[in-house]
Amino acid sequence: MFQLLSKDPGSEARRGRLTTSHGVIETPQYMPVGTQASVKAVAPRDLDVMGTEIILGNTYHLFLRPGLEVFRHFGGLHKFMNWHKPILTDSGGFQVFSLAKLRSITEEGVEFRSHLDGSKFFLGPKEAVAIQHALGSDILMAFDECPPWPCEESKVSDAVQRTIRWARASLDHHRHLIATEPNRPTREQALFGIVQGGSHANLRADCAGALVEMGFDGYAIGGVSVGEPEEEMYKTAEVTVPHLPPGQVRYAMGLGQPHQLVELVARGVDIFDCVLPTRVARHATVYTCRGTLNLRGAQYKMDPLALEPGCGCYACQNFTRAYIRHLFKAGEILALVLVSLHNLHFYLELMRDIRKALDDGSFGSFRTHFLATYLQEKS
Ligand SMILES: [Zn+2]
Repeated sequence: MFQLLSKDPGSEARRGRLTTSHGVIETPQYMPVGTQASVKAVAPRDLDVMGTEIILGNTYHLFLRPGLEVFRHFGGLHKFMNWHKPILTDSGGFQVFSLAKLRSITEEGVEFRSHLDGSKFFLGPKEAVAIQHALGSDILMAFDECPPWPCEESKVSDAVQRTIRWARASLDHHRHLIATEPNRPTREQALFGIVQGGSHANLRADCAGALVEMGFDGYAIGGVSVGEPEEEMYKTAEVTVPHLPPGQVRYAMGLGQPHQLVELVARGVDIFDCVLPTRVARHATVYTCRGTLNLRGAQYKMDPLALEPGCGCYACQNFTRAYIRHLFKAGEILALVLVSLHNLHFYLELMRDIRKALDDGSFGSFRTHFLATYLQEKS
């Protein structure tokens, strides 16, 4: 499903193309996050207009609400939310280990209480794969255990061993369902393995080695952006990527800020998902190539400029900072819509610029220039 188009001579960055049942994804690529079958404050039509190629859905949240019977009734997540391009769903592992209450872990999976109403559920590798088959995602993630940060090495090692066993069970069940369930909503579904191991190079190598031997369609670096310092996040990518096959796609989960995406592309990562563009939008924070600005600041009260002058998004083409600041001050929902549109557009445009630089052979100078401009003005 992945075609490696070219590799940057000065770094580990790559240009690639991922083909799924619902369309083609050019890499490096960013995926807007649609946790509850909705990218917050943004309609699918607008995602389409800004050039979104793939979105992410959350297995844990969708499993609890609205529940699988709803997705079965409507023929999967694409039809239910009226998004007809690719969808990647996570495994639910991250939320079970971070959100759910009072859980007990066994070899089969995790028993937990819903963070919504306290009712009891069970999620393991088989269940996670079956849910993602019912959702009809184009890319499924294997069920994993994401250890917290910081965490002692022996506990990370236990999580890695369990992640490897659960990856095997996920893959077996995925293949079983493909062979036995002809009426799945999406015909071609890819399954990615998730590499855990904290910041321990030996554990990352062990985990990656075991997963690659099983033969997944792509590989994710999990357990990053869990509170560790930025340098450690970069180091984790550096010690993991060399153990992944060059001919398959690499996905860094739950990342990150714009400069971190550029730095991780340079370390060989192809796809990203991150809630930041829509999350910070709800707090009036705007991404620009000179860092972020917060519209609540008094200096924007009379500001006639666009959020980012020159930006091609609907918000920047039509409204001033002063107007959108007023919407925030007045508690108008349109404020969230406009800044979410801009911030998502900013991330997608950044990835377009990265791909263009890789195509032109100018990624090295793009990286230097982007980081100097973005980080200098921010501090
Ligand atoms: Zn804009």
